Amino acid sequence: MNLAQRKLTDLQAYIDYLHEAGQLLRVHSPVDPIHELAGFAKAHEGGKVVLFEKVKRAPCPVLMGLYWNRQILADLFETSYEALPFKLADEIAAWKKRPMPPVVVPRGPANEVVESAPDLGRLPIPRHWLKDGGRYLTSSVVIARHPDTGVRNASIHRFMVKAGDRMALDLEEKGHLRAYFRIAEARRRPLEITINNGVDPSVHFAAATPGSVAPIDVDELGIASQLLGEPLRLVRSQCVGVEGIATAQFVIEAEIVPRVRSAEGPYGEITGYYAQRKPRWLARVKCITRRRRPVLHNILPGLEVYHAFALSAEAGMTAVVKRQVPGVRTVTLSLGSVPYHAVVQMRKTSNTAPRRAIRAAFDSLVFLKMVTVVDEDVNPFDPRDVEWAVATRCRPERDISLFRDVPGHRLNPSVIRGKWTRIGYDATVPLPRAKAFERSRMAAVDPTRFRTSG
Ligand code: MN
Repeated sequence: MNLAQRKLTDLQAYIDYLHEAGQLLRVHSPVDPIHELAGFAKAHEGGKVVLFEKVKRAPCPVLMGLYWNRQILADLFETSYEALPFKLADEIAAWKKRPMPPVVVPRGPANEVVESAPDLGRLPIPRHWLKDGGRYLTSSVVIARHPDTGVRNASIHRFMVKAGDRMALDLEEKGHLRAYFRIAEARRRPLEITINNGVDPSVHFAAATPGSVAPIDVDELGIASQLLGEPLRLVRSQCVGVEGIATAQFVIEAEIVPRVRSAEGPYGEITGYYAQRKPRWLARVKCITRRRRPVLHNILPGLEVYHAFALSAEAGMTAVVKRQVPGVRTVTLSLGSVPYHAVVQMRKTSNTAPRRAIRAAFDSLVFLKMVTVVDEDVNPFDPRDVEWAVATRCRPERDISLFRDVPGHRLNPSVIRGKWTRIGYDATVPLPRAKAFERSRMAAVDPTRFRTSG
């Protein structure tokens, strides 16, 4: 992608780019990091990226919304909305063939200032949802080393501030960081980490790559090098034995403490519900390094998390479903579905093909709950068009399939004793296509050719 050639190597460069592209909303008035900042951001979700220039009681600005608009990301990566997931997948495939490891440098912008008496209370970390248990750092990339092999891992976690030098965090059951910590904890050793805030999208997408694509024995930070078109620069830490991202805004050097758990939550999750308060893991901050003039980056739970997840999932799902069912054009996760609902668009070759596509889609992503199959004349990226197809083309007694008592997703409250029922909608026109199903169309007119007023 050669982002480095285009000088897109840190958040400041992206802010300049967005400003020039007319995609940056600057908020000049002071904003309170408790509820107000997130509330403002929510009102702009999916639109321009928001830079809060003044945050009350805090010394630096906050950027939100970098990932909530897929069109902005597509423009950034010089591709189209539809092609973006495949572009990322192609880059990952190229990285697998010819890995480009990161390089370690002694210093970089991320350690211009060293704060050896860390105080998280001074950072403008927001409180997002009304019933959240605290202030949450949501967009930070955690780097750790495997206790035996030393292989680096990069992953994204939510952190709740507990004290000036303490944060509770969530470790996903099957995540590599959890596996690393399990080994360290069995030896009663802490696991050293760096928490990198304000990284550029190359690092973000590298860290968001699922374990099925970047297994535990490879350093996924090489994906960032691939996207940059040059080796990613890492910076040596002050008090832990694992590196930080040289171009980050803040590098929080910390360790996950063995045999200690700390209450974390509630936290408003991507599902639209609160993750419950439970004993989870505890990170002790040893020092914080930062730029002289940093911008704290935060991700607003919702569309932003959806895109970060969907972009990596969709390319993988499309490849699997296409391989199994000829005629499939694309598989996408519906914008409104958090993302539990996949939409398959296909050129139908037989009346049984949509049903096979439904099964293939469920096989391609373990926590899907719904699959809808549509024809080529329906826009799979537009939930209104998909609903129109279900409303006018699906005959429930014939076109709905249920898959009962399969394992459900842990965050979804409709799951009972770990199980739910999956549903598939065939919203395609039966073959041979009857005339009644022909979509009415109007002429394509370019409105900019006409003089208008009012
Ligand atoms: Mn990994």
